[in-house]
Amino acid sequence: MQEALEFYIDGQWQQSQSDARIEVTNPSTEEAYAVIALGGDADTNAAVTAANTAFDGWSQTSKEERLALLEKLLDIYGRRAGEMGETISKEMGAPIDWAKGAQAGSGFGHIKNFIETLKEFEFDRLLNDNAPNDRILYEAVGICALITPWNWPINQVTLKVIAALAAGCTIILKPSEIAPMSALIFAEMIDEAGFPKGVFNLVNGDGMGVGTQLTSHPDVDMVSFTGSTRAGKLISKSAADTVKRVHLELGGKGANIIFADARDNALAWSVKRCFGNSGQSCNAPTRLLVERSVYNDAVTAAADAANATAVDMASKQGNHIGPLVSQLQFDKVQTLIETGIGEGARLVAGGPGRPEGITEGYFVRPTVFADVNNEMEIAREEIFGPVLSIIPFDDEEEAIRIANDTVYGLTNYVQTEDSAKATRVARRLRSGMVEINGMPRSAGAPFGGYKQSGNGREGGSWGIEDFLEVKSVSGWASNQ
Ligand code: NAD
Repeated sequence: MQEALEFYIDGQWQQSQSDARIEVTNPSTEEAYAVIALGGDADTNAAVTAANTAFDGWSQTSKEERLALLEKLLDIYGRRAGEMGETISKEMGAPIDWAKGAQAGSGFGHIKNFIETLKEFEFDRLLNDNAPNDRILYEAVGICALITPWNWPINQVTLKVIAALAAGCTIILKPSEIAPMSALIFAEMIDEAGFPKGVFNLVNGDGMGVGTQLTSHPDVDMVSFTGSTRAGKLISKSAADTVKRVHLELGGKGANIIFADARDNALAWSVKRCFGNSGQSCNAPTRLLVERSVYNDAVTAAADAANATAVDMASKQGNHIGPLVSQLQFDKVQTLIETGIGEGARLVAGGPGRPEGITEGYFVRPTVFADVNNEMEIAREEIFGPVLSIIPFDDEEEAIRIANDTVYGLTNYVQTEDSAKATRVARRLRSGMVEINGMPRSAGAPFGGYKQSGNGREGGSWGIEDFLEVKSVSGWASNQ
C-alpha cells in the first residue's frame, strides 16, 4: 500500500497534523492501493498562513518572472506526462490511452495555453483615449482556495492553478480525496520548477473538513470550485460570511439537438461523446433531442453504437470505456437506470448490472433510453455514467424549449447541415458553450456555465481575469 501522508506547505512536504486517513481505490479492481491523510484545521491554517506570507512578494513579480517559472513547469510536466497518465488511469479508472492522451494531455495543454495568454495579457490599461489620466490596473485577487473534482483531475487542477499563478495569486489546492494522486505529482512538479515558497500549497482533505475550513476562512479571498451543484451551493453559503469571491464550475445536462439534415456520422459521434470518460464529464451531451422524422432510425443507430461500445479494464490499451470512479457512483447510476425503467422510458441498449462477463470493478453497461420525456428524472438529473436519454421533437422551437428546460446550462450541441439554422439555434441556447456539428472549442476558448452550471469562465484570458481585481486609478500622470 502506497502511503502519501504529507502535504505541500510553504515550499516543503510536511506530515499531516491530523490522524484521519482515506484509502484510494482502483475502480477497475475495487482494491485500495494507496492511503492519504485528510487534513484538519491545523494543516489548513498552516497552508493559508504560508499563502498569505507569500502573497506580497508573488503578486508584485513581473510577468517575465512568472512566465519563466511556468515555462520550467511545462518542461517538467512534458517529461512526466506519461507517469501523470498512468496515475490518473489508476486513481479514477480512465483507460490508459485516454488517460495519457485526453486526461494528462489536457494539463500540458492548459499550462501551454496560459503561458501564451499571459504573454499577451495587459495588466495595466488606459480607460479610453479620452481619459489620459485614468488607469485601470488588473491585480491579483489574493489568497485563493482551489477545490477540484475527480473526473478530470489534472485538467481541473491546471485550469485553476496556472491561471491563479499567472494572475499573481497565491493558492491552496484541495484536490478530490477520491483521486488525489495526480495532484501530488503535480505538486512535485511545482516544487521542482522552483516557485517561491508559500505560493502554491496543497492540503488533502474532504469537503466537510479542509473544504469547509477553506471556504469559510477569513484570510482566504476567493474560492474557485469545480464539482457538483450540491457542493457548489454549500460552498456559496459557507463563503458568504466573509464575502469571498466564489467561482463555480458545476454540473450539466447537455442537450444535443439532431435535426433531420444532420451529417451522416452525427449519431455515432453523439453516442461516443456521451459515453466518453464513462459518461463522467460535466459537459457530456446526455439528452439526445431528435427530430421526429428521423427518430426511429436515430434510436436504432444509437442502440447499435451503445452495443458496440467496449467496456474494459483501465489498465488495458484501446479505445474502450473504463469503470465508474467509485461504489458510490456505481450505485447512483444503477439507481437512475432503474428509475428510467420505472418511469416508462424504453430501454434499447444496456440496462442494470455490470456488462456480461465482468464480475468486479465499478463497470456499467452503456445504456440508451428512447421515448424519454423531459419531465422524467433521467432527463433532469445529472447521471454521470454512460447513460443516454433520447427525446423526440417536432420543430426548431420545441427543440430549443426542451434544451433550455433544465436547471443547468453548461454545453449544448447542435447537428444540422443548415448553417443558418445552426447559428440561429446556438444564439438561443441558454448555456455557456454550444458546439455545432462536433467541432471542438479551440485552445483559449472560455469554459463555464449559465444557471446552476456555475458562474465563472476558465481558460484563456477569461481564466486569468477570474483571479483578478480591477482597480481604477485617476490622476495618473500620462507619461507614466
Ligand atoms: P463533489 O462536489 O462531490 O466534490 C468536488 C470537490 O469538492 C472535492 O474536492 C470535494 O472534496 C469538495 N467538496 C465537496 N463538498 C464540499 C463542501 N461542502 N465544501 C467544500 N468542498 C467540498 O464533486 P465530484 O463528485 O468530485 O465531481 C463530480 C461533479 O463535478 C459533477 O457534478 C460534475 O458535473 C462536476 N464537474 C463540473 C465541471 C465544470 O467545469 N462545470 C467539470 C468537472 C466536473
